[in-house]
Amino acid sequence: MPSYIDSYYMRTLQAGPARPCLSGAREADVCIVGGGLAGITAALELLRLGRSVILLEAKRVAWGASGRNGGVVSPGYSTSFQQIARTSGADNAKSLYRMSIEGVQIIAGNIQQLNMQQAQAIPGTLRVSRYENSEQMQAQRDWLAQEFQYQVAFKSREELQDMLVSARYRQALYDPQAFHFHPLNYAQALVAEIERLGGQVYEDSEVLSAACDLPVKLLKTAQGSVKAGAVVFTCGGYTGNLVPKLAGSYLPIATYMLLTEAAKTQIASAIRTGAAIGDSRRASDYYRLVDGGERILWGGMITTRTSEPRRLAEVLRKRMVDTYPQLEGLKVDVAWSGLMSYARHLMPLIGQFKPGVWYCMGFGGHGMNTTAIGGKVVAQGIAGETDRYRQFAPFGLVWNGGAAGTAAVQMTYWYYQLMDFMQERRA
Ligand SMILES: Cc1cc2nc3c(=O)[nH]c(=O)nc-3n(C[C@H](O)[C@H](O)[C@H](O)COP(=O)(O)OP(=O)(O)OC[C@H]3O[C@@H](n4cnc5c(N)ncnc54)[C@H](O)[C@@H]3O)c2cc1C
Repeated sequence: MPSYIDSYYMRTLQAGPARPCLSGAREADVCIVGGGLAGITAALELLRLGRSVILLEAKRVAWGASGRNGGVVSPGYSTSFQQIARTSGADNAKSLYRMSIEGVQIIAGNIQQLNMQQAQAIPGTLRVSRYENSEQMQAQRDWLAQEFQYQVAFKSREELQDMLVSARYRQALYDPQAFHFHPLNYAQALVAEIERLGGQVYEDSEVLSAACDLPVKLLKTAQGSVKAGAVVFTCGGYTGNLVPKLAGSYLPIATYMLLTEAAKTQIASAIRTGAAIGDSRRASDYYRLVDGGERILWGGMITTRTSEPRRLAEVLRKRMVDTYPQLEGLKVDVAWSGLMSYARHLMPLIGQFKPGVWYCMGFGGHGMNTTAIGGKVVAQGIAGETDRYRQFAPFGLVWNGGAAGTAAVQMTYWYYQLMDFMQERRA
């Protein structure tokens, strides 16, 4: 049985039993391929709508990005509202934004309904600016209240200094409805609920072939097969070449996290809030306290190649110390990376490309709320309950640009870093 990678989440996992490997021939209304939070949420929502479900995961449930991320659950997508409105129109963009808020509420609702203490949900996020940005942040606060009745609070530099002792920061928006949590424990708890509702979950069961042209789809693993009326591909940044149409529509992008050693007093000299923090740079850092303030979980940076995590841990640590010089000397306990999937338009890829063949992926670095709403609208689409998934149609399966697309992403990130640097220098 494959194991989880070493990470904060693996070390604090409250796991259920390992699930069996698929063997023999099975049947269900729907087969889900990929056991990250997109697949798990879709499976759960389908069961709640009365469909039978088999979920096949190549490694362990939430082994990919879903079980190793920053754990920040907040509204929005990986691209800006303005960009979404430019492509799909202002009304559709507003509707999509509302759905992104609903994604946050789905997770909060599951945690409450299933009484998930182990998900360790802690309320509040702070979006901090590293340059003078009061006017724009207050305009953003007012816009969220007016358009979406969504309340966030503006924090001045003085107020922010009480929470984050860093000369880098100017102002922030505090979101009390957003939160952070333990995504791997959350995923495990959802899988337990899937099984309680009669869903079948198989681990160590990579789908090796998918025959999807006939009304009954046939998915094969090394030791078994599943026949289903509908299939949903939710393989994220680990999609590979199983379905050529999907393989050509996303780019796998690596991103990184570290966990510091336990040093409560030193850490409290820098970070004095339980909220999760993310800065508003294009190439941002995000971090939060864990274990009651004993340690910091710090994430940031992207690359298009899988680089050596040890060197990257040092680069990440330097970013942390650049923000908080008082944390010099704080050691890294463990660092890890994970793959996100990005479409060229940076929006989720959600829809149906043949009758009964669904995809739900491309959530980028904003995947907690969006996998929740993505999984839900796909389940509703399959069950014929709503066609809300169509609101993602303006962001279809566009070609990722191949090797040139990969190079372009890396160049864009470096360009963003340069722009961030210039913006801070000017401020
Ligand atoms: C380090 C890191 C930090 C992040 N921080 C945040 C954050 O704080 N907040 C936030 O909102 N988002 C964050 N994200 C993004 C978020 O984690 C992802 O967008 C989201 O988890 C994607 O979920 P998914 O289900 O689409 O994919 P994944 O969770 O990657 O799941 C895909 C699964 O499919 C399986 N699979 C692949 N091929 C097959 C096959 N042929 N057969 C069977 N199974 C298969 C894989 O094994 C994998 O388990 C972060 C991502 C990373 C990597």
